[in-house]
Amino acid sequence: MNLQIQHIAKKFHNGTKALADVDFSVSQGEFVSVIGPSGAGKTTLFRILNGMMECTGGQVLLDDKRFDSLKGRKKRELQKSIATIYQDFCLVENSTCLKNVLTAGLPDMGFFQGVFGLYGKTRKEEALKLLDRVGLLEKAEEPIKNLSGGQKQRVAIARALMRHPAILLADEPVASLDPVTGRQILELLKSIHETDGVTILMNSHNLEFSQEFSDRLIGLKDGKVVFDGKTADLTDSITTQIYNKNDTQIENKRGVAYE
Ligand code: ADP
Repeated sequence: MNLQIQHIAKKFHNGTKALADVDFSVSQGEFVSVIGPSGAGKTTLFRILNGMMECTGGQVLLDDKRFDSLKGRKKRELQKSIATIYQDFCLVENSTCLKNVLTAGLPDMGFFQGVFGLYGKTRKEEALKLLDRVGLLEKAEEPIKNLSGGQKQRVAIARALMRHPAILLADEPVASLDPVTGRQILELLKSIHETDGVTILMNSHNLEFSQEFSDRLIGLKDGKVVFDGKTADLTDSITTQIYNKNDTQIENKRGVAYE
């Protein structure tokens, strides 16, 4: 599934212009990271892409079908192709791992099926297979609240895969994890990307991880795309320009945590 972001703009009610003329395409199977300093517009862009926020200009196309202006059932149909994992996991803490993964199917289920938890044998088998895939089969009946942060993100990944997404949005997927656990989560995402051919669009403030795991980087600054290229083409000088408020202040800033 091809994702086309065409001249997207977002102006908030208070007048803040978070995005201006953001324009790029992502082909099926790419691993792309959106990089940039805090306030660059990364979260706003991701919210528009997963349908949680409307843009005020431009359009988003999925396989040439306009996505941003759709409403109701048609929007939900297309939205099924995009799953998101978040920094804070967005799981139901008192519910089990298995139930959290199963609820990913709720939009396609009937009202009574959903309310009474009638998920069906096939769905359960699939959810268990996914928990196995992320290394958590033995935790299937464990409530989320008993898991570590890394384990919670694994459940969130299994839940996302339950939707069979063409595109997986990873919004700061490792920001609340220690570096070792964060790396393990990104290795899992990379292996899913390679095995299933799922497109991954990641937003991470950790530049080293973005460079290590992505094939392509998109640099956002003040709501505009200032770099779009292969990871290997990101030079120190471009990095400095993306992250520095003052562009003339050229110095090597790699290796520090950007905020
Ligand atoms: P990033 O994720 O790169 O840190 P954001 O997308 O969160 O950046 O924010 C981009 C800009 O939009 C910032 O100036 C931020 O203050 C502003 N912004 C974000 N959300 C809102 C909102 N709901 N209302 C007004 N301004 C907002």
